[in-house]
Amino acid sequence: MADFGGADLEAFRRKIREWLQANYPAELRDPSAQTDPEAVWGGRAFEGSADPQIVWMRRMAEQGWTAPTWPKEVGGGGLSAQHARVLDQELAAGRYRPALLSFGVWMLGPVLLEYANDEQKKEHLPKITQGRIRWCQGYSEPGAGSDLAGLQTRCEDKGDHWLIGGSKVWTSYADKADWCFCLVRTDASKKHEGISFVLIDMASPGVETRPIRLISGDSPFCETFFTDVKVPKGNLVGRLNGGWEIAKRLLQYERQNISAGFGEGGSAGGASGDLAEIAKRYVGAADGGVLADADLRRRVTENKMNFQALRQTIARSAAESRAGNGPSATTSIIKYAAAEFAKERSELMIEALGAHGLGWAGEGFAAPELTAVRGWLRTKANSIEGGTSEINLNVVAKRVLGLPDPK
Ligand SMILES: Cc1cc2nc3c(=O)[nH]c(=O)nc-3n(C[C@H](O)[C@H](O)[C@H](O)COP(=O)(O)OP(=O)(O)OC[C@H]3O[C@@H](n4cnc5c(N)ncnc54)[C@H](O)[C@@H]3O)c2cc1C
Repeated sequence: MADFGGADLEAFRRKIREWLQANYPAELRDPSAQTDPEAVWGGRAFEGSADPQIVWMRRMAEQGWTAPTWPKEVGGGGLSAQHARVLDQELAAGRYRPALLSFGVWMLGPVLLEYANDEQKKEHLPKITQGRIRWCQGYSEPGAGSDLAGLQTRCEDKGDHWLIGGSKVWTSYADKADWCFCLVRTDASKKHEGISFVLIDMASPGVETRPIRLISGDSPFCETFFTDVKVPKGNLVGRLNGGWEIAKRLLQYERQNISAGFGEGGSAGGASGDLAEIAKRYVGAADGGVLADADLRRRVTENKMNFQALRQTIARSAAESRAGNGPSATTSIIKYAAAEFAKERSELMIEALGAHGLGWAGEGFAAPELTAVRGWLRTKANSIEGGTSEINLNVVAKRVLGLPDPK
């Protein structure tokens, strides 16, 4: 690990900039470079791979920069919130590809740091920061989505191991994941107080996944079945029947991270590209180079301003959560707003492209045209994943505004 120490943020910025320029694999600067699209998620499938994306991930992980604010002992960068922000800014300014996309970094790791025992931290956190294990989230069940605490996947104490039986649904990338963080029922006589949080190796006998195909043609998530799956006793995180508290905490981290992925540069927010520029190209520009259609111009500008305000709010709330006790229920405000702005942006994109925005496949369509409808369909999931908009509004009403339950 290179020495980037010192409190001087500008010196730190210069050193980082030099390091990034020297260590970014040349192949990744070429937009047409052939890299496996799954490589950025890491995992066992890429053990020993020479894919340039994996080389980039390893170099960043050696510095601890796949999880910049985590402690160095577990593979993090040990950076302060301000130093981590400088790193983010330099990565964005240099248009570097992400080194690692990871449910482990975004969701599981932060709760392991808070709730896991030392042995669990030592076992799992370095593998997360190094991108060696890909994680999936086993929360939702056919009868337990918004009412998550109604989950039924049972987990029985068999003396020297747990025995797990049941099924999960909408498990993103379960077919590609190595391990699953899972909510299970350990006491059927209580609802919230009968839930535990366990870690399951997806290679265990009895685990089966079936991809679900979407209207967009993708299969980003699966049904996941557990049939008499044996899990070591040491894989229970926190207290037996104490999983609900961990589950809620993890959702706060999830909502914070999902929101950051929406919008122009984000992966989950629909069609990519600068909306204002694309609109000008398709609708036409007036004198002074502005978008010709005044009404569309107003709505595009409003959406852009909303995203700018959102980005600043996310950065502020992330810095607050790094400096304090982690995220809070206010992440539900951000998640709700981000989903609405992302859906609005996709609607505007389709409107600006007109008939060109309906392209699905074929040589007759250019880049923004081909991603527009797929992106628009993808944004429909923005107000469902990580808790629906209605559920987030309920959280805001109860936990942020302190309003009473309706009679
Ligand atoms: C892209 C995507 C990825 C996902 N990935 C994962 C994953 O990796 N792991 C995982 O476990 N889950 C995942 N999910 C599932 C997601 O968490 C659930 O879909 C979500 O929590 C809603 O649950 P549900 O689908 O059962 O809908 P339901 O709970 O059946 O809700 C149906 C409708 O009723 C409304 N509703 C329900 N209860 C209330 C209430 N009390 N007040 C007001 N309105 C209410 C909801 O807002 C919604 O509009 C994913 C979902 C999507 C779309």
